[in-house]
Amino acid sequence: MAKQYETVIGLEVHVELATATKIFCGCSTKFGGRPNTHTCPVCTGMPGSLPVLNQKVVEYALKLGLALNCEINRYCQFDRKNYFYPDNPQNYQISQLYLPICHDGYLEIDVSGEKKKIRIHEMHMEEDAGKLIHDEWEDCSLVDYNRSGVPLLEIVSEPDMRTAEEVIAYLEKLRMLCRYLGVSDCKLQEGSMRADVNLSVREAGSRGLGTRTEMKNLNSFKAITHAIEGERERQIELLADHRQVVQETRRWDDNKEASYGMRSKEDAKDYRYFPDPDLQPVVISDEWLKKLRGEQPEFQEERRERFQKAYGLSEYDAGILTQSRHLADLFETVADLSGFPKKTANWLMVEGLRILKEKGQEPEELSFTPKHLAELIQAVERGEINHANARLVFEQILDADVEPLHFMEEQGMRMVSDDGALAAAVEETLCENPKVVEEYRSGKEKVFGFLVGQVMKKMMGKADPGRVNELLKKRL
Ligand code: ADP
Ligand code: MG
Ligand code: ZN
Repeated sequence: MAKQYETVIGLEVHVELATATKIFCGCSTKFGGRPNTHTCPVCTGMPGSLPVLNQKVVEYALKLGLALNCEINRYCQFDRKNYFYPDNPQNYQISQLYLPICHDGYLEIDVSGEKKKIRIHEMHMEEDAGKLIHDEWEDCSLVDYNRSGVPLLEIVSEPDMRTAEEVIAYLEKLRMLCRYLGVSDCKLQEGSMRADVNLSVREAGSRGLGTRTEMKNLNSFKAITHAIEGERERQIELLADHRQVVQETRRWDDNKEASYGMRSKEDAKDYRYFPDPDLQPVVISDEWLKKLRGEQPEFQEERRERFQKAYGLSEYDAGILTQSRHLADLFETVADLSGFPKKTANWLMVEGLRILKEKGQEPEELSFTPKHLAELIQAVERGEINHANARLVFEQILDADVEPLHFMEEQGMRMVSDDGALAAAVEETLCENPKVVEEYRSGKEKVFGFLVGQVMKKMMGKADPGRVNELLKKRL
């Protein structure tokens, strides 16, 4: 019988922090911008310049560390990681090796209803490197230092994951925590979240760890899933063939659906780490930690339960609405303003998420005045607008934040709920169509639809069809 193999995966995730300025200087962290315009002597590694730590970076690290159930190193320091590469102007990166800010935490993931704790080995603060651009000019490479010195958190897991689904669940949960905390927007495409996948295989049932490879350059969940499946197959083939896996860094090419070796893996000793003499150790006080603990937001699980209880939502609906803090905030405000929580949930989930999907946007990008949606929902519930038109208004609210009541008036979408006008139209219709009325009364119920149509025509389509039905039935 063929041997059974188990996949073992540990992740190193880099998250770019959403601070306004860089980690050791006052330059902007804005994405994009003309090359080398967000730079100064510090982040271009000029001799004689000195780094000054951005306190916000430590604050964000502590917030995420607390959310990841970590132990906090109340006395931590920065180390120099020495290596030469043109995107790294100092010839060393300021990082943390000996005393990282956080260690020994965990993140609980949920894969098809099964909960599992993934242990966090450690989390540390460091600076990002610049960007090399190879294909703009023919015979040389260009470098842009705008990203040099942008603050990063590196979150290192224990090798606790076994499948691509677990890896994606871990990354999604981590992204959700970062966004709830506002510490990072975690966009894989823009590189504000980057995952290196360490993977080994072993015979099912064995306890030891196999030799691993590390895959970089993965910028979508799809690429990560493909890379895991491809690398697992490659390693199993080697082992089944009694050959060995070489510990190395590999680059996954998602177009070719194959990985190739980049370089043999460096050890910590290759980097000749030592404490950075230009930066003081960081001491985290009791008061500060206590204050940050008190400021932690209500996270998804808690909020989902509260939404179920307070608004009578199903677990599924409450789960979707709380996947993004922004969406949950919007829901809560609109539900309270309108007084129709279930309708609010339906509008946001059915229409809202459909429109976002069509536009390729994320819930974070929803930006409209909550009061506008509340007013639309109330108008629908009062029977002032039919559902088809309400959907059009909803799109306009999402697109241009229109005021729904104005817009309905302008576009002639507002239905007449005044029973006087409606009753008159019903009377007229009955008088004008005596034959049809006769037919209906003698049992030909099919003609009812025709009468409804005539009334709607008189009302120029601005009547609530339900109400028309009611009045007609009463009169017949
Ligand atoms: P390095 O310092 O070389 O980067 P670490 O020991 O810090 O190595 O581990 C880096 C990552 O690789 C961690 O997420 C860890 O869980 C994972 N890892 C280590 N050994 C293995 C292995 N044999 N199989 C899978 N993942 C592993
Ligand atoms: Mg590492
Ligand atoms: Zn700078």
